[in-house]
Amino acid sequence: MKKFISLLLCAAMTMALMTGCGAGSGASKALDDGTLTVATNAEFPPFEYVGDDGQPDGFDMALIKKIGEKLGVEVVIENMEFASIVSSIGSKADVAIAGMTITDERKQSVDFSDPYFDAVQYVLLPADSDIATYEDLEGKSIGCQLGTTGDFIVEEIEGANGSQYNKAVDAVNDMLNGRLDAVIIDSNPAQVFASNYKDQIKAVDGKQFGFEVEQYAIAMPKGDTELAGKINQALKDLKADGTYDELVSQYIE
Ligand code: GLN
Repeated sequence: MKKFISLLLCAAMTMALMTGCGAGSGASKALDDGTLTVATNAEFPPFEYVGDDGQPDGFDMALIKKIGEKLGVEVVIENMEFASIVSSIGSKADVAIAGMTITDERKQSVDFSDPYFDAVQYVLLPADSDIATYEDLEGKSIGCQLGTTGDFIVEEIEGANGSQYNKAVDAVNDMLNGRLDAVIIDSNPAQVFASNYKDQIKAVDGKQFGFEVEQYAIAMPKGDTELAGKINQALKDLKADGTYDELVSQYIE
């Protein structure tokens, strides 16, 4: 009997090593069920938005589906608030693609793939605004999307009255209504919003305000080196075979 119990224990420990410790030892559990569950926040055109059919669409959505094809898994999108995405990884979602900038703080909770796109924060302004320098932003009412790198920039601006929104479009509307002096948001969405309100909004390159270039990457569970390897390889292949460039011209240019 004793022997049987120790055998059982042994088997259980082996199982635990094979499955439970998978992430830590580099093996991926994320793909075992044949699906890749992907967190996003479909409020960030052209990278992700809700399409006419009610489904998330955009550059990131198309890119992750192509990655799913390479990996031989079905991609399932989980649309959620941006501020919830990082903590969803490893529970609600396997990975995230959300125009998400690589930051040191996020790296404490997740790993990032190789970068797939460069961006910079832009400043959206009413067309007649005379804000032109970083100092001009001081003491102003500035909108941003909650938990984003734009939000982190607003926090640093001396005396600024920051308003955080779950949806960037709500910040843009508040600026149009005169409740905000500016909105700080990533370059490409900024250009989309500005072109939607051509005569009312101007989009100014944040480099003019001293903002640094950011890199977007796919966020993944910490330590899942097998998954990271596969995703990075898929990214490389999609760049090499022209798919990546096709998606850029379809969605971004
Ligand atoms: N790139 C920004 C960030 O990572 C904004 C992303 C977003 O709003 N989807 O914080």
